Amino acid sequence: MAACIFCKIIKGEIPSMKLFESERTFAFLDIQPLSRGHSLIIPKHHGAKLHDIPDDQLHEILPVAKKIASAVGCEDYNILQNNGRIAHQVVDHVHFHMIPKPNEKEGLGIGWPAE
Ligand code: IMP
Repeated sequence: MAACIFCKIIKGEIPSMKLFESERTFAFLDIQPLSRGHSLIIPKHHGAKLHDIPDDQLHEILPVAKKIASAVGCEDYNILQNNGRIAHQVVDHVHFHMIPKPNEKEGLGIGWPAE
């Protein structure tokens, strides 16, 4: 979809910190991370809500989230997916958040990967 910010990220028209790309799936760092390594995993197929995405376009999402969690070395994390304004969805292209939960020593660790 031409005006969709995440479609533009997939096409490279808007820069992103890309973590993964395949035929169906794209992943990148969230621009306003809640913690170090906060990532977004998205189907390339455009759709605003989960029910707009064909099942076969969703198969890679959780495996990619697992890969990224392992790559950033986090064992504790949340997977979050919002549908609709009441559910706090802001960007109308389906996306799954992978939000690492840092341990007490690490704190929030915001700043990765620049630090
Ligand atoms: P939502 O509330 O589940 O829709 O979350 C949308 C997420 O997209 C937020 O965490 C934003 O920080 C993130 N976001 C919005 N624009 C960009 C961008 O251009 N690059 C990376 N993340 C973005």
